[in-house]
Amino acid sequence: KRSWLTRLKAGLSKTSASLTTLFVGAKIDDDLYEELESALLMADGGVEATQFLLTALKKKVKDDKLTDAEQVKGALKTLLIELLTPLQKPLVLGRHQPMVMMIAGVNGAGKTTTIGKLAKHLQAHRQSVLLAAGDTFRAAAREQLAIWGERNNVSVISQESGDPAAVAFDAVQSALARGTDVVMVDTAGRLPTQLHLMEELKKIKRVIGKSMADAPHEVLLVIDGNTGQNALTQVKAFDDALQLTGLVVTKLDGTAKGGVLAAIARTRPVPVYFIGVGEGIEDLQPFNAQEFVDALLS
Ligand code: GDP
Repeated sequence: KRSWLTRLKAGLSKTSASLTTLFVGAKIDDDLYEELESALLMADGGVEATQFLLTALKKKVKDDKLTDAEQVKGALKTLLIELLTPLQKPLVLGRHQPMVMMIAGVNGAGKTTTIGKLAKHLQAHRQSVLLAAGDTFRAAAREQLAIWGERNNVSVISQESGDPAAVAFDAVQSALARGTDVVMVDTAGRLPTQLHLMEELKKIKRVIGKSMADAPHEVLLVIDGNTGQNALTQVKAFDDALQLTGLVVTKLDGTAKGGVLAAIARTRPVPVYFIGVGEGIEDLQPFNAQEFVDALLS
């Protein structure tokens, strides 16, 4: 547990450096608020969340008659925890047999890696897992998923150049027949601007719904936490198209843009089930607002 927190802290150190140093020995004046404003914007908190936090912080400083910059930092911490706590929601297991999860994201966001990490996480919670290689466009994507499958001893349903919706359908049927606990359907990485590809994702979702009532039970978007406001744009576009149930925010190790979670909380509060803090199979953790803010503003 400690090593995970240490890694999160190290990972967010680029974001936290600019946020914490400005409080050291500072007077509580307009300069401080201006510096904080630029630090929050630099951390990709976005204009909306930044203004919200500054207004709330000024009010708190006044109401609580704070006189010391360290206290102001503490107040900011409290506000950030309040802002991010609604995003903290666990992925609940065991409500469906199988639980069908559809996983989307743009290329390079860390989707395949996340599926591998999730497979391991689910197995640790005694869930049997089946993967569906829904990225039928890229042979490399299928191969990569197969490697993760082998590593975790998990079967992968795959079809060469097949219809991704058909692969998803087959996987759910197979899971129903085998009594598998969780099916994860990988999908081809794409940009939200590629409208025909978004239509295809909607089709996969519809077809999954035909393979099992109420499925997919979870629609997850994997976003690269290092892409800041761009990640927020993706959340909006994919949520509009697919009605997301959760997010996985990857690459929070070594990012200067950890503020993007604040922007998500203010503008499109889709729950963050997990965060990724490294390339290894263990580097996926449930999102915890308190731990995250502690790491950010320690
Ligand atoms: P996909 O195209 O969305 O499937 O992306 P991949 O899963 O292939 O990941 C793209 C790159 O990001 C790979 O080099 C991964 O090792 C790396 N990656 C994924 N998640 C993380 C993370 O949490 N932290 C770091 N540092 N790298 C990650």
